[in-house]
Amino acid sequence: MAHGKVIGRFAPTPSGPLHFGSLVTAVASYCHSRSQQGQWLLRIEDVDTPRVVKGATSQILTSLEAYGFEWDGEVLYQSSRFDYYESKLDELLNQQDCYACECSRKSLREKGVKSGLMGQIYPRICAEKNITPNNHSIRLNTESASISRFNDQIYGNFELNLNEQVGDFILKRVDGIYAYHLAVVLDDDSQNINQVMRGADLLLSTCLHLYLHQRFKLPTPQYLHLPLVIDSDGKKLSKQTGADAIDNNHPAASLISALKFLNQPTHTSWINLKPQVILQQATRYWDHKLIKPETHIQVYEPS
Ligand code: GLU
Repeated sequence: MAHGKVIGRFAPTPSGPLHFGSLVTAVASYCHSRSQQGQWLLRIEDVDTPRVVKGATSQILTSLEAYGFEWDGEVLYQSSRFDYYESKLDELLNQQDCYACECSRKSLREKGVKSGLMGQIYPRICAEKNITPNNHSIRLNTESASISRFNDQIYGNFELNLNEQVGDFILKRVDGIYAYHLAVVLDDDSQNINQVMRGADLLLSTCLHLYLHQRFKLPTPQYLHLPLVIDSDGKKLSKQTGADAIDNNHPAASLISALKFLNQPTHTSWINLKPQVILQQATRYWDHKLIKPETHIQVYEPS
């Protein structure tokens, strides 16, 4: 990056312990930041409180330590930021970028609302109603959004027409939970993140985040999306669907597998090294250009 210090991050959701897919993201974001003498911050994405699994946060922290990761500064918890999210949402409401909505998903289904790339495209039924925000969901008005595009450092150019293909997405749900899209944009800004590395399942979401940066007048970080680790059924490994936790007793083997998945150079002798030293070596040889976006069809069979 041309200006200033690189600040990257790892932002797991505590809906379960880390699995091989999360390890791949942690390794990539860590080595990429450190190879540029950058910082690597840790954020626990516990905004969606009903999805948080008891004990998962401490399991995640324990695994990261067992795998030799060292993060800079304090861990940021989304659950400590609800007042901030609310104040920023008020800002958008005052700018008339957002509106309260009383439509349920079911009522929209019954109306035969069409679906876009990320679920129903909301037909702006409540946009002009001036409903008071309390106890209602809040949507971002994307009418003026047009094309949202960015150049991903791994996947290349990516674009979509937010207004036509996604529509007015929710920033706060009717149950009071702030949307991931709102939280991630505000958190990356508060933590001064300028390089975001995460799974390719979030490529589409990035277009939503770019539009939020515009509405909040925030700088846009650089994005690098990583190929997804797929299980033998062809599904993304995920904490929610109970993917196997990484083994804290054998970090070397899993770190080497993660580096191989990322198409980085490794050496058989590394199996005998401490995880911190493997990460140091991996950082030395790190080259994000070696990552192949198409490896997302590679099947990971836990050994
Ligand atoms: N919390 C998300 C996850 O665990 C990652 C979001 C992000 O990196 O922006 O999949």
